Amino acid sequence: MYNNFKTEFKPYLDTLKEDNTTLKNHFNNDTFIKEVRKQARERITKAFNPITKKFKWSMLPSLLSNNPKLIKNEKIDCLTNGLMLAPSHWSNYNTCSNASYGCGLNCLTQSGHGERHMQTNGVHHVHIARMVRTILFFEYRELFLDKLFREITNFESKAKRLGKVCGIRLNTMSDIRWENIKFNNKTFFQHFPNVSYYDYTKDIKRDINHIPNYHLTFSLNERNSLLIGLAFKKGMNVTVVIRNKKLGKEWQDKPSSYSIHGITKQAIDGDLHDYRPIDGKDKFVLLNPKGKDTLKDQTGFVKELN
Ligand code: SF4
Repeated sequence: MYNNFKTEFKPYLDTLKEDNTTLKNHFNNDTFIKEVRKQARERITKAFNPITKKFKWSMLPSLLSNNPKLIKNEKIDCLTNGLMLAPSHWSNYNTCSNASYGCGLNCLTQSGHGERHMQTNGVHHVHIARMVRTILFFEYRELFLDKLFREITNFESKAKRLGKVCGIRLNTMSDIRWENIKFNNKTFFQHFPNVSYYDYTKDIKRDINHIPNYHLTFSLNERNSLLIGLAFKKGMNVTVVIRNKKLGKEWQDKPSSYSIHGITKQAIDGDLHDYRPIDGKDKFVLLNPKGKDTLKDQTGFVKELN
């Protein structure tokens, strides 16, 4: 499927590279983000015991948490938690290699409790937590994975006790190839075969069809619409963030079909819940913009409908 990918999609891949550089420079010069990075490192240093080489985890944020969108899954009996890292180049590590300029700027990370003004005495606990997790993921990988293993174990037990499906999103705000990450010689999908993992991705080259308990939905931005056909061919649905042009705000009743670049498919409302594994196949999943800035997006990341 990817034999000629590099040649066929060269202009797209070149743009991605440029966008990544632009995003990196943008976030590296952002005073708010620089302060979050500093405070996250201070938290990590305080929690690390250099003699035992272990963390006092009670001094650090838990790795798994939820948000209003994940909580909506409870309506359909799925208890869901997600790993929320710092997206794109926020942490100075890149967690979203396929991010476009538009999605990097409009990322969900800055909506709800992630809005920048949600600080207490100059401390933004939500962003510090995401930054801490990301630094731990890159710099203390084994300790991080060990803690993640324990948290998933507990969360799965909780879901079982409540008689619910256990849903986990490892890339709530990132696009890491978890299919390549092993802890004690197994992926997390293998460690927990009864957990239903799912994510959104912009990385068309991810191959997860051999993983029975992992589901991916391809996520559209202002650059990657040329990959829609390929995404459907790979069995993924495609999410589109839409804005109602007439009202200048969110769609309440979303259309039941959607067309873009000559491809028309049935459309479903992706905001009713977040549990994508039950969406079926061959569909566009329509989403409202999250956050005030995303609603006003001018990059083309948010598509307008009349
Ligand atoms: S790829 Fe997804 S998580 Fe990453 S910056 Fe874009 S919207 Fe955010």
